[in-house]
Amino acid sequence: MNGFHHLDEATIVSFASGTLSRRLLPVVTNHVTHCPECRKSVRIAEAIGGAVLEAVPPHELTPGLLQATIERIELRSR
Ligand SMILES: [Zn+2]
Repeated sequence: MNGFHHLDEATIVSFASGTLSRRLLPVVTNHVTHCPECRKSVRIAEAIGGAVLEAVPPHELTPGLLQATIERIELRSR
């Protein structure tokens, strides 16, 4: 054992979708930068995520939804 571990699937998907925790982000970014195998997995996860988004039909938003969302974000950041 040399102590080297590749990133697990959940971490790869979180990294690719931008939802990885701030605590893990520097470590994972460093690993992906130096590990071609995990970099390839991240690219695949990004491609899958993009394909899923494209497959979802456009949806008309409820009037006022944007303003309500902004207000909720502002409330949380207080
Ligand atoms: Zn790796």
